[in-house]
Amino acid sequence: MDHFSLKSGVMHAEDVALPRIAEEVGTPVYVYSRATLERHAQVFKAALSGLGSGDRAPLIAFAVKSNPNLSVLKVLQRQGFGADVVSGGELIRALAAGMAPEDVVFSGVGKTSAELELGLDKQIGQFNIESSEEGRELAAIASARGEEASAVLRINPDVDAKTHEKISTGKAENKFGVPLIRAREVYSELAGLAGLNLRGVAIHIGSQLLDLEPLETAFAKVGALVSDLRAAGHTITHVDLGGGLGVPYKAGETPPSPAEYGAMVERATKGWDVRLAFEPGRVIAGNAGILLTRVVRVKRGGNGPPFVIVDAAMNDLARPALYGAWHDFEAVEPSGERMTANIVGPICETGDTFAKDRECDALQSGDLAIFRTAGAYGATMASSYNSRGFVAEVMVDGDQFAVVADRIAASAIMDAERVPDFLA
Ligand SMILES: *Cc1c(COP(=O)(O)O)cnc(C)c1O
Repeated sequence: MDHFSLKSGVMHAEDVALPRIAEEVGTPVYVYSRATLERHAQVFKAALSGLGSGDRAPLIAFAVKSNPNLSVLKVLQRQGFGADVVSGGELIRALAAGMAPEDVVFSGVGKTSAELELGLDKQIGQFNIESSEEGRELAAIASARGEEASAVLRINPDVDAKTHEKISTGKAENKFGVPLIRAREVYSELAGLAGLNLRGVAIHIGSQLLDLEPLETAFAKVGALVSDLRAAGHTITHVDLGGGLGVPYKAGETPPSPAEYGAMVERATKGWDVRLAFEPGRVIAGNAGILLTRVVRVKRGGNGPPFVIVDAAMNDLARPALYGAWHDFEAVEPSGERMTANIVGPICETGDTFAKDRECDALQSGDLAIFRTAGAYGATMASSYNSRGFVAEVMVDGDQFAVVADRIAASAIMDAERVPDFLA
């Protein structure tokens, strides 16, 4: 459920008419709904409420990479969420949004020594170690400081998440985690190191999962591993089950609900006797944002359907170009007429295509339109390709809105460049 809907024939975000935002902030612009973010956070929390209480209450660590906007993080911090970060930059953001250091988990296959140091400086709650090499490095850094880093070992369970290959992370050939068959050996090695408090395991098998079965299979493997590790004498108190729950991008897509996910987790983790952590991203932020754009012109006369050329492009919303992803596309003030069109941006690449042969609201030059489900992996993937600026972001709260990320003009990006003396 989201709060982007037609009221008196005009698309609104909560109680704000989108043309108002377009006039005041310009287009393209991402628009987030606070009420939608809060609702998604609450539904997710409720779905996991049976998994433990007190110091066993699950940690819900929002995957910052899905939407790192400070105001989005602030909304989720106020809902009691922590953060799953994958870089020093994300770590700084999570803390700037007020997330408690102990509620931050640091994932990622290539944390640098400087990033490991930063995590220790900020006293984060947990490092998710992805290799024996990383574990040894973290142990050495921490023990040189006279400290002990709390950590879990990320396992690669070799499960096919049945999602797009670029966002599948739990198959043997993917770069993430330690292969299950080596997990016991690596765990034993790292558990013996000074500087490391290794206290459990983690997995994350992929994103935009539309089926619970691969997750349940992976969780069963984790459960068996936890028993094995305990039998080998290790104390296992924490398991991080990652993120990955999908969202509907398209009519007819029916991802599992958070409640179904929660029930499956309860079944799969029965008797584990650990504190669980979760790292949801897309399921919280995806449908809480749209990309608002204006039609530059409609170009007719080619071989196929007309080209609706919008002022947003693949540099603002990369998912269609990157993954062939679908985003629903709707007029802000639909006339009731329909058309079939190719929806494209202005960038000089054929890949700058949002949709082909799409049946959509009839549009003409100057009309406003939205791409739905753009709140996750949207603005955060923006670039300045074609010397376009960085897209602005707005948050709506009831009948008010605020710019939560300024548009960065192409000229400001150029200002950061220098022509050296030897070219003068
Ligand atoms: C990307 C990522 C997530 C979030 O995935 P979603 O599909 O957005 O829920 C969680 N954990 C890790 C380690 C990730 O890399």
